[in-house]
Formats: sequence, structure tokens, C-alpha cells
Amino acid sequence: MDLLNLKGLLLAIVVFVPLERLFAMHHEQKLFRPRWQDDLVYFFLNGLLIKLALSTTVGAIVVAGMWLVPADFQNWVGGLPFWVQLPALIVLADIGFYSVHRLFHKIPYLWKFHAVHHSIEDLDWLAAHRVHPVDQILTKGASLLPVFALGFSAAPIAAYFFLYHWQSLFIHSNIKIGFGPLRWLIASPQFHHWHHANHPEAFDKNFAGQLSLLDMLFGTMHMPGNEVPTRYGTDDPVPSGYFRQLLYPFARSRKKAVAANGAAMAADSVEKSDAGVFAAKPDQPQPVG
Ligand SMILES: [Zn+2]
Ligand SMILES: [Zn+2]
Repeated sequence: MDLLNLKGLLLAIVVFVPLERLFAMHHEQKLFRPRWQDDLVYFFLNGLLIKLALSTTVGAIVVAGMWLVPADFQNWVGGLPFWVQLPALIVLADIGFYSVHRLFHKIPYLWKFHAVHHSIEDLDWLAAHRVHPVDQILTKGASLLPVFALGFSAAPIAAYFFLYHWQSLFIHSNIKIGFGPLRWLIASPQFHHWHHANHPEAFDKNFAGQLSLLDMLFGTMHMPGNEVPTRYGTDDPVPSGYFRQLLYPFARSRKKAVAANGAAMAADSVEKSDAGVFAAKPDQPQPVG
């Protein structure tokens, strides 16, 4: 059994490395760009961790689905033609993805987990793997809920997994390929690159994983013509390295630590001399994007 998914890695290299050379969005980006090693560790270790956690989640969803959804309805859904089930599945799963992804941007505690993904400063297919496991499990769990609870059959579920995986690598890749009018329906590299842009006008935009149409409908779309971002990442102090990033959301933020230090020093200096008034520097507003 290929637990580490070496075949998947080889296949992705064969597909994306030549495409990123031929159709580069950012020509100056090197194959071995900064922090590629971190993302390779994510590929191996996160893949294993998430497979384990998601198989437990899927088991729970199947049991809950049997309990909550009438068997007749599940049988009806499972009996629909493949070409009806597959688009229905993609729409439902991406609504789940969109909703939880938006929550990860909105709620400050959840943002700390998601900031790890937004710490990517050089986007390519490999960087797609840099996702904190808590983020991955909750977002993926939300998209898998309708997939496994409503009774969809095995073939459209397998096709959905295949499309989701390759589209996810593709939209992070350093590839510029025009989608024409389809860009308002299907998430493209340009669409998701704007989600990762460190440009204030693009913060909290383009949440969908597969269907840009959802952002059109919910008013969160940002796609200025054929332009692509010039800066990626977040101003949050996300450290580098897999294990440091795993711990980052649980650690006391550096800003708070600095503020606490400042307050302690201020109290100390007030005690020592009654002369000065110390104004603590307020926290910077939390960037989101
Ligand atoms: Zn995001
Ligand atoms: Zn992304």
C-alpha cells in the first residue's frame, strides 16, 4: 500500500512541472522556490494524518446520515444518473467548503489555523499542501457531509474526489491559462491566486474551492480583468517549518507577548519613577486574506 502517496507525488511532478515552465503566471519564480521543503513535508506527513482523521469523520457522517436521512431518499439519490449526481455533489460539497472557509477568515481564533495556508508567498502546485490539519479536517469535513450523508453512489463520489484533488493543485499552480467566460463558473488559478493575494482589495474574497459561481452569488468575487496579484502571503507572524506551523495557532501570539512585555516594563518604570506616562502600543489590526 502506497501510504505516503509516492505515486501521486510523481504524477503531480510529471503533470505540473512542465506546465508551470510552459505557461508560467510568474516567470521569475524558480522550481525550487523558498520553503519548498516545508511543503514537501506537508505532502508526506499531513497526507497521512488527514487520511486517518477523515476516515473517522466519514464513518461518523455515514452513521449520522443513516440516522437522519430517510433510507428512501438516500436510495432515490443513489439511483439518479451519474451525470445528475456528479454536478449536484460538486455544488453541495463546495457550498460546505465555501461556508467553513469563510468562517475561518471571519473568526479570529480559526484564522490562526488558516493563516498557515495564507503564509504561502510563492504559489505553486506543491504549496497547495500547506494546510493546518485542523483547517483541513473541518473544511473537508463540511464538504464531505452532503457527499456521504445523502446517499450518493460510489462512482460519482470517486469522480468528485478525483476532480477536487486535481483542481486544488491546479488552482494553486503557477500557471496562467485563460478560462474565458467559464471563469465566472469554475475556480481557476487566477481566481484562487487572488484569494492568496496580499493586496487589501482582495482580502476576504474568492472563497470557493471549485465553483467561482458561489462567490458571484454571495458577492465575494474579486477578479480584475486578466490581472494577477504581485504579492502573496499574510502579515501575520506565521513561522516557517512544518512542526512550528502546527503549533502556531496554539501559541500565545507574539504581538500579545510583546504587548504583555511592554505593559510589564511600563508598570516597572512607573513604580521606579512617578514621572512618565507609558502608552502601550495597540495591537495592529489583524490582516485577513
Ligand atoms: Zn482562505
Ligand atoms: Zn489556497
